[in-house]
Amino acid sequence: MFPAVGRPEDAMARPPVAVRAAGALGLVAPLLRSRPVLVVSDFDGTLSPINPDPWGAFIVPLARRALRRLVSVPGVHVAILSGRTAADVAGRVRVGGALYLGNHGLERGALVRRQRADSMRVATRPSPSIYGDTAERLAAELPRLITEPWLVVERKAPAVAFHYRSAPDTLLAGRRVADAVDALDPGRLLVRFPGRRVLELRPPGVVAKGEAMAELIAEIQPRLTLMLGDDRSDALAFAALRSARDAGTTDGAAIAVQAFAEAPREVAEAADVLLAAPVEAARFLAALARGLRADPAR
Ligand SMILES: [Mg+2]
Repeated sequence: MFPAVGRPEDAMARPPVAVRAAGALGLVAPLLRSRPVLVVSDFDGTLSPINPDPWGAFIVPLARRALRRLVSVPGVHVAILSGRTAADVAGRVRVGGALYLGNHGLERGALVRRQRADSMRVATRPSPSIYGDTAERLAAELPRLITEPWLVVERKAPAVAFHYRSAPDTLLAGRRVADAVDALDPGRLLVRFPGRRVLELRPPGVVAKGEAMAELIAEIQPRLTLMLGDDRSDALAFAALRSARDAGTTDGAAIAVQAFAEAPREVAEAADVLLAAPVEAARFLAALARGLRADPAR
């Protein structure tokens, strides 16, 4: 029922075209009386503009207000699904009543309303200690090979991420990071996941956003599911949503967000619709909250 925006079959003929919030809301307008509703969103580049300093990233204020409205609507579930740790992303989003799936779904915490994010309890899926130890070793040793200030190390054992957002030449920086990682982990114990101005290393076979999304759908059994994201890892969740939709398990839409005009093409192609910027994602969520309130479940 959704118009295909940049679907793989027509991608050669028609590049994905970004729309504004109202255009994306039009896709789901006929479904606003459905309950339960599951709204899942990535953080960086989706709810937050990409900040050259990963530790400086902040949520678009309208997005926070919209998420707070969404969690207050009966039958509406909100989950933040991020590569950051659950504690980190909960501290940046600060919406009580939402679920925080961190480290691509390896971590899970539920923030109670009015609870401080730093006191949220987080459950982590176990993985063999050799991966966490290797991630920690690389986090300590890689900055000795690349001493430039643009390298930002995000420790999140059993994974680790090396950001180079503020490098003057991001292509070159990406190659240097990849070469340094290969030198320190020549046996490729950790799997490489290149993202937007980041190289992430994760244990093999661990849950990623696709599995996390599939599990959320199985758990909540939403009739309407929305997923917003901007990066290759989010495309996995888009695929999980679309596969649940094809199976008739849920309805909904995968919504790609473009920040910096550099959303990877395959991300837009994996989505049903492309929003022009994080601020449009915030406007979409605000309009969605209004729509769900105005159209209560029958
Ligand atoms: Mg992102």
